[in-house]
Amino acid sequence: MPFCDACGRNSSFAVVNRTRTINIRGMDIHIPYRAEVCIACGEERYNDELEMLILDKAASAYRDKQRMLPSEQIARYMEKNHLTAEEMAARVGCAVGDILRAEKGRLVSIETDQKLKDTILGQKKAQTA
Ligand SMILES: [Zn+2]
Repeated sequence: MPFCDACGRNSSFAVVNRTRTINIRGMDIHIPYRAEVCIACGEERYNDELEMLILDKAASAYRDKQRMLPSEQIARYMEKNHLTAEEMAARVGCAVGDILRAEKGRLVSIETDQKLKDTILGQKKAQTA
């Protein structure tokens, strides 16, 4: 039987559906997930990977709700224009770290998101016109 860190016993674990509420910049985001709960003490088994996954999902949900530019669109634009993160940052007018975060679907400020939209969507319009 697996070991429970919470109660220090070998115990069975049950898989239960739970919802985590993550607050990002004042917005509550609910992320459903599957937790392993110790039968002996009722504590959730801590899982580093799961914690990261929940935070990533919350960030992604926040991005969707704020209608931030999708990360794929940023990556595609950089690929198409053969831009490194440094060159992209210079073009957008933001920090290199912002580009790296946005590219991975992590959070950036509303201002940076708007700059990215101006650069990428503005360029798109110019091309189709
Ligand atoms: Zn336990």
